[in-house]
Amino acid sequence: MSKIATAINNSMDYKLGVLETPRDNGKTSKRGLCAATYATQYSCDPLCVFNEATGQGEGCYSNGGPASWTMKRLNNAASAIVDLTSEQIAADEATEIRKLNGLQPLRLHVSGDCDTDESARMVSAAAADYTAIAGFESWTYTHSWSRVDRESWGSVNVHASCETSQNVTDANAKGYATAKEVEHFESDKLYEDAYGDLILPCAQQTGRAANCYECGWCFNPKSVARRIARRISIGFAVHGAGGQGAKALAALRSVLSIEMVVAA
Ligand code: SF4
Repeated sequence: MSKIATAINNSMDYKLGVLETPRDNGKTSKRGLCAATYATQYSCDPLCVFNEATGQGEGCYSNGGPASWTMKRLNNAASAIVDLTSEQIAADEATEIRKLNGLQPLRLHVSGDCDTDESARMVSAAAADYTAIAGFESWTYTHSWSRVDRESWGSVNVHASCETSQNVTDANAKGYATAKEVEHFESDKLYEDAYGDLILPCAQQTGRAANCYECGWCFNPKSVARRIARRISIGFAVHGAGGQGAKALAALRSVLSIEMVVAA
């Protein structure tokens, strides 16, 4: 059966970190510095404004660039399974995680999510086993935070993916660290946005760090705890290859326009 979730020890995703070493023969050897998992988008919040698999939105960054090749393969396999559940996808992802060597930080869900408490518990249990091998942390971002308790994620450094200020307030009240999508950064450093939210721009996006491996803000438990206590969100400027950025910007603006109407 084709896979609906997969995991890799040394992801070649440059955002996560790739070490390039020149060799004597003039070529360059490359090694990914973080492990990563990918799950079909059928594991995501079906109402996510960026979710193209369910047709409820568009603009997910994993629909563009190299990540999309893996994600499309997983989506094709998932679409052939009748009555596929979140727990079936999580079981496959947990199996894949338990095959990893545990020797680098683990980014869960370059694509995909856990949309139920039980699926989050299954994946986080496998992530805890991963951390137990050599102490390397796991981290992720979830659009399913309103339906999944923070406790279900266990020791995973999980961030609620937020589009609005109300999202940040609600996710923070549930105990989540938060990441907020913004149209653009108003500063390279910590700033307060127009909605009163404290935004710490992603270090890789601003160039303050080369990649996640070098930065570590999202998987350093002390850094995550400090941001929860101070209600600081990691900021992500709308991004995505192959036109996904423009679609994501449109989706974000539509959500923000609804928030402005509700607040008026
Ligand atoms: S803030 Fe740092 S760890 Fe988090 S996504 Fe950006 S570069 Fe990666």
